[in-house]
Amino acid sequence: MAATRQTVAQTLEEVITWRPVLAPVLRSFEPLLTKQEDLVDELTESLKKQGMALPQGQPERMDQGVSLLAGASFAGFAPAVLTSAEKLLPLLCRMDAVVPYKEALEGFFLKSDKADAQQAEELVVAVASGNKKSLEGLAEKIDVDPLVLHFVAGFIVAPVLRALTALVVAAGDEAPWEVGDVWRQGYCPMCGALPTMGWMDKPSIDEKNAFLAGGGGKKHLHCGTCGADWKYRRGACPACGEEGSGVMELLRESGMAAHGERLDWCTKCKSYCPAVDLREREFVPNLDALALGMMHLDMVAARRKLKPVKPSFWNMF
Ligand SMILES: [Zn+2]
Ligand SMILES: [Zn+2]
Repeated sequence: MAATRQTVAQTLEEVITWRPVLAPVLRSFEPLLTKQEDLVDELTESLKKQGMALPQGQPERMDQGVSLLAGASFAGFAPAVLTSAEKLLPLLCRMDAVVPYKEALEGFFLKSDKADAQQAEELVVAVASGNKKSLEGLAEKIDVDPLVLHFVAGFIVAPVLRALTALVVAAGDEAPWEVGDVWRQGYCPMCGALPTMGWMDKPSIDEKNAFLAGGGGKKHLHCGTCGADWKYRRGACPACGEEGSGVMELLRESGMAAHGERLDWCTKCKSYCPAVDLREREFVPNLDALALGMMHLDMVAARRKLKPVKPSFWNMF
């Protein structure tokens, strides 16, 4: 069933009616998240037109836990990075932490000669592989605070990777990692990053016969870096891989309507991942926007000394 998918704006609007206290921070990030959302569509089209070769799913490698983009060079991706930077950098450079590095960042991102193209591709490699060392090296070279470059690069590269993921998913009936349920890891089958969100699916309706084809509630993880979604075992921790009864616990906000929102946390390694049970919601939210809209639970988790499976930008500074 093609459940109605909410845009970034619709998702945030709904969250704000439930948690008006978050309005200022959600509104401040809304333009950025909306631009990213638009960019994914634009870049998907342009990568397609460019005839970009797509990474192929290799079942044996995936069986061993090797992500599709492991070792990718991202040659030819510089124009996509430039497009993304042109749209996002002006918004990012309005933020207090970024302002001091405006010129350095523009100098790096908004050029398009050959040497810069190579640097842009190296940046995509660094973000996609989560290579902190190489980001730090680059930050030093262009004289930008490494944390700021990490933040900015994450925002600019994400739509490029999400466009690539969209093309890979659209290329077959199923995503390569869904074929034969070959992927069993807690990290992303596409880029290898740890998940930013978990979600339980809605009951599915057989479209031709209009009967209930599945009860829903299957667990999936969502990658905030490249946008991939994949199935994962309910009782297992995506961070440490521990599995069994009593390993994963749920944390919900008490005394308020939860809208299916909760934290799944691991009693072994004390890491948590926000999650949403779509059976308890009318609409399917934009998961990247919802992750931001669940920051009140990040605060609850911090008080309990739990750490996020994947730190997000709003708890970076
Ligand atoms: Zn990913
Ligand atoms: Zn764990």
